[in-house]
Amino acid sequence: MTETSDDATGAVPGSDLPRVAFIGLGNMGGPMAANLVAAGVVVHGFDVVPAALDAARSKGVTVVDDPLDAVAEAEVVLTMLPSGQHVKEAYAGTPERPGLLSAARAETIFLDCSTINTSEAVEAANMAREAGFRAADAPVSGGVVGAEAGTLAFMVGATEEVFSELHPLLDIMGRRVVHCGDAGLGQAAKICNNMILGVSMIAVSEAFVLAEKLGLSDEAMFDVVSGATGQCWALTTNCPVPGPVPTSPANRDFAPGFAGALMAKDLTLAANALDETGVDAQLGRAAGEIYRRFAEGEGAGLDFSGIITTIREASQER
Ligand code: NAD
Repeated sequence: MTETSDDATGAVPGSDLPRVAFIGLGNMGGPMAANLVAAGVVVHGFDVVPAALDAARSKGVTVVDDPLDAVAEAEVVLTMLPSGQHVKEAYAGTPERPGLLSAARAETIFLDCSTINTSEAVEAANMAREAGFRAADAPVSGGVVGAEAGTLAFMVGATEEVFSELHPLLDIMGRRVVHCGDAGLGQAAKICNNMILGVSMIAVSEAFVLAEKLGLSDEAMFDVVSGATGQCWALTTNCPVPGPVPTSPANRDFAPGFAGALMAKDLTLAANALDETGVDAQLGRAAGEIYRRFAEGEGAGLDFSGIITTIREASQER
């Protein structure tokens, strides 16, 4: 990779930033890694899918054939993988291949930005710490658009010291960085937020369908509720009916946005945390079931606000 000096002092932009091994260059990881490179961070990237490697290479990421080579050079090992099982296997390895923990330098920070179970986030952090390293979880919101624009929100679980060290890197990839507590609590914040979001989108959608049945126009319903106590993000930013909020996915046949499959995934993680804690969250569980069925059909690839169509169809019998 070519590094350039941007002033007369010969300083290299980003040269005081930690070197990163970026593992998982998919829809989110690819553009996040590209933004780090654009800011001058030394990034070595790896993915098991060749097409993801090619796409990352075209954005300036130095891709490697063996993730252990990337890890050996890195100060931060950032994972952006589908599930907790993927993260734990990547860290510890499998009978077929050694794990990332086997190749890291002392003081390395293992930073997982995937969305995974809170218990698995704690497990992964403990695995890294027991191997002598430091660890953090920093799941994101903002989707692929936010990953590309560098405007993600990071919810960070880490010690104060690790949080401070990671902050400059996270600032490059995101617009909002919140320290939520120690390892695992970033994931906790994310699933709590998304449980509210899933429940509130269903509530807003049910209310619109009821309003329609009662003869109230979508516009009148929106005008009243957006200025009343039912006001929420699901209504005023991601409104599930076309018209009142021209930028909401309902105006483009529910092209996501935030896909139903991802909402179903996050509510499954929330349900797992409810099971583990014994919290009596009836609406959170019901929302999880509703989105699971939605994502089994065509809802998987639609924005999660498309749930209103399911509610409207189920209400047509009477
Ligand atoms: P993705 O499937 O596009 O990317 C995951 C990548 O990981 C794939 O390219 C896959 O090949 C790679 N991978 C799997 N196992 C690997 C391994 N052992 N080593 C290296 N690479 C490996 O998924 P995504 O949309 O980029 O999401 C990544 C994470 O971010 C998930 O946990 C997801 O829930 C979360 N997330 C996604 C969004 C979104 O809008 N897509 C938003 C917020 C959070």
